[in-house]
Amino acid sequence: MKHVVIVGGGFAGLNVARELGNKRGVRVTLLDKHNFHLFQPLLYQVAMAALNAGEIAYPLRMMLSKYKNVTVLKGIVKTVDPFTNTIFTDFGELTYDTLVMACGTKHHYFGHNEWEEFAPGLKTIAQAAEIRRRVMEAYENAERSQNPEEKRKLLTFVVVGGGPTGVELAGSIGEMSRHYLSKYFKNIDPKQVRIFIAHSAPRILQTFSAELTDKATRALAELGVEVLSCCTVTSIDADGVLIGSERIDAGTVLWAAGVRATSIGKTIGFETDRSGRIIVAEDLSVPGHPDIFAGGDQAHFEFPDGNILPGLASVALQEGQAIGRNILNDMQGKPRKPFVYKDKGQMATIGKNIAIAERGQVRLSGIPAWIIWLAVHLYYLSGAKHRIFVLLQWGWSYFTFGHGARIVNKEWRFYPTVPEKAEPAEKEELVSDSACALPSGDADGKTRQ
Ligand SMILES: Cc1cc2nc3c(=O)[nH]c(=O)nc-3n(C[C@H](O)[C@H](O)[C@H](O)COP(=O)(O)OP(=O)(O)OC[C@H]3O[C@@H](n4cnc5c(N)ncnc54)[C@H](O)[C@@H]3O)c2cc1C
Repeated sequence: MKHVVIVGGGFAGLNVARELGNKRGVRVTLLDKHNFHLFQPLLYQVAMAALNAGEIAYPLRMMLSKYKNVTVLKGIVKTVDPFTNTIFTDFGELTYDTLVMACGTKHHYFGHNEWEEFAPGLKTIAQAAEIRRRVMEAYENAERSQNPEEKRKLLTFVVVGGGPTGVELAGSIGEMSRHYLSKYFKNIDPKQVRIFIAHSAPRILQTFSAELTDKATRALAELGVEVLSCCTVTSIDADGVLIGSERIDAGTVLWAAGVRATSIGKTIGFETDRSGRIIVAEDLSVPGHPDIFAGGDQAHFEFPDGNILPGLASVALQEGQAIGRNILNDMQGKPRKPFVYKDKGQMATIGKNIAIAERGQVRLSGIPAWIIWLAVHLYYLSGAKHRIFVLLQWGWSYFTFGHGARIVNKEWRFYPTVPEKAEPAEKEELVSDSACALPSGDADGKTRQ
């Protein structure tokens, strides 16, 4: 029996396990620090009280229960010795014949981890709960405040980063402020709410066409969100942010500006890129280690033209499947196949009835894009029960503007003792305004696929 160990039960790891499930001659151990798979694309809805955490998290054991040769173990992988095929975890050691690294990313503060306390990122359920608590507390405190200055600060929200997550967060705050505040809060005028997206590049949603970015920016403006382009946040504290010499006093600051692969690839000694991703060969194996693969957000897959695959669920899913198929090819003595990515396009939602979607030359916005966004997210969400619950929640919210989970409790507070801290990083140059002079591209200066 060949023993395949998969580290990480996200989109990549899960799909390796599915490919190998119930195949002869192989046993699989999937290790994850959580006992559930998290559907991260809908995490912002948990943060914005539209969905409950249980509706986007699914137990890995249940998802893989039909595969008799797959065992799920909850544990944290600390490091790996690729020369003795040993994995070191928080509960002991394990050996493997083939290893798949699929640990994903963590939020990244460009060497300013001290900002984390004041501006939580959105990567885990705990962070989503914290963001929800902060936004709700800001409304509650503004409702009772008699001080106009304090009220203004409490009703100012800054989202750092204008990628899809930043846009979704800002759009949701805009929508919630309009409908929730006007209906349930007697002492707040929704017009007092100010929401900013601070973005260091010339335009938000850079991986989309300029035409769709313009439409998204206009839609955000209608929800009261002001986009500050070419604005690099240089400091964050308990009272707001500093953008160059301009200060914005804000009650709530949210971080959606950067992620970085978990540091384990570097700890093991693999070659990584500047975002910590493990550089992989065309068959997704780690160069020099044919028995080790890396996939999903943790892998750096580069096309011959220099383009790098972005951190998307569809990339992770396809890479997981391809790794699983190559492991089977090895077992059957067949040659491995190079990874071929099928571009499924990209989408972002701004609010009710407003989204943008792009695939090749096909560009959609407004209601058609929003309907596609809903359908795709429901389709990829795991489990029929979750799909039905989420559909019901969305239907209810659509017609009533009611949000499901707006309860806040101070005891739930987890910052600053955040359970999953950002990876420690050396101080890095923050992307300065001069980046605005560059053509749009990702952090490596390369336009993403
Ligand atoms: C808020 C948000 C919104 C997003 N929206 C979209 C979207 O709309 N569309 C889209 O395509 N993509 C979106 N993405 C990106 C997408 O979710 C990721 O690309 C995808 O989840 C990557 O899958 P993965 O398997 O590589 O990693 P992940 O899904 O992150 O899974 C990694 C797993 O590894 C586990 N792990 C990590 N380290 C260890 C360790 N040391 N030991 C054991 N286990 C470990 C983690 O617990 C986790 O379960 C979004 C991401 C976020 C955070």
